[in-house]
Amino acid sequence: MSFANPKVGFVSLGCPKALVDSERILTQLRVEGYDIVQTYDDADVVVVNTCGFIDSAVTESLDAIGEALAENGKVIVTGCLGKRADVIRDAHPDVLSISGPQDYGSVMGAVHAALPPKHDPFINLVPDTGIKLTPKHYAYLKISEGCNHRCSFCIIPSMRGDLVSRPVDEVLREAEKLVRGGVQELLVISQDTSAYGVDLKYAERTWRDRSYQTRMKALCEGLSELGVWTRLHYVYPYPHVDDIIPLMADGKLLPYLDIPFQHASPRVLKLMKRPGAVDKTLERIQRWRSICPELTIRSTFIVGFPGETEAEFEELLDFLDEAQLDRVGAFAYSPVEGARANDLPDPVDEAVKQERLARFMERQAEISTARLEAKVGSVQQCLVDAIDGELAIARSMADAPEIDGLVQIQNGFEAGLKPGEFVQVEIMGSDEHDLYGEALFT
Ligand code: SF4
Repeated sequence: MSFANPKVGFVSLGCPKALVDSERILTQLRVEGYDIVQTYDDADVVVVNTCGFIDSAVTESLDAIGEALAENGKVIVTGCLGKRADVIRDAHPDVLSISGPQDYGSVMGAVHAALPPKHDPFINLVPDTGIKLTPKHYAYLKISEGCNHRCSFCIIPSMRGDLVSRPVDEVLREAEKLVRGGVQELLVISQDTSAYGVDLKYAERTWRDRSYQTRMKALCEGLSELGVWTRLHYVYPYPHVDDIIPLMADGKLLPYLDIPFQHASPRVLKLMKRPGAVDKTLERIQRWRSICPELTIRSTFIVGFPGETEAEFEELLDFLDEAQLDRVGAFAYSPVEGARANDLPDPVDEAVKQERLARFMERQAEISTARLEAKVGSVQQCLVDAIDGELAIARSMADAPEIDGLVQIQNGFEAGLKPGEFVQVEIMGSDEHDLYGEALFT
């Protein structure tokens, strides 16, 4: 008779929303007494959480499934690509089970069938915060699933369904637990953070004896009570975003907005089925900055969308000049199987797409570089992520983990800094992405 716990290998692919799904599955596995192991050899079964957003992600997911099958043989597939089970079965007919995103019940059912649990509550301890895939000092906080928009290039609504918000008290309780477990930065994620609560008709709930609406502003007010950094991702540029800028100006919320604008030409935005009032967007950005001058805006754009003309692409470059965004990511449009944009006429030639992408990135690089240079000489509050030799690698309020830049603190080791600590840093240099400085001894 074996006393060893059953062992599960886990491969987590995709965006932060998929990462949160992975964390929930891992937490449940640990609750039920499974050990999570690092190698295919050690695992009795492997779970692969897939991504299916763009073609390269599909390929990466299929490759990961293939590798797990070759190395281990017993593979359970879940996540976004699970919605396209035929694609998985065609490539890998031997997988044990396939389920879609957030389908924790099916994943656990498949694990139980392949490898029955052996639960001993006295030895299987799970931290109060669940299993996290992020470092101890920051965590993603998922406030809703699905999306009510129907952007023509996106298949997320068909994979994840319409918006389903988590009641505000549930989110605040989770955040409170994370902070108790040592988290210093909460990263609020969803498909559309500004739509939070609309499906629940902004239901009121009680947390810490106070009533909060299930609504973006009330959520931010609640989170500000926790005394840690709160950063908002995936915000749509709607008028009610105006309401949270004063919270940023008051230091209750990080002065940071991640708003995927996607384009600036009204006609292209219409083809994308995104809101198209570019003048209003520029006005709004200006107003936000007048209320909260330190506001950092990050965005993503798609160039070479079907039908995009040279003049419309130049409108986008003009928008960059006017908007002076801090951080920008861009993609050349690539068709996603099942997206309605594939049926649009006048696809842009691949070489033209790549040439526009290069011009776009060049223009934005100048803007980002200048905006970072303007910070030289200032003092920034930073959160330390890691120590690397003499250096501490940190982030300022303007830098989200993984996607933005870093602050390299030259005397980080000497200053005795540790991951998860806040420190005031005098900024002495900059480049296109990062800042360089020295910790101030207080
Ligand atoms: S807002 Fe648009 S791009 Fe974002 S998830 Fe919803 S449909 Fe997709």
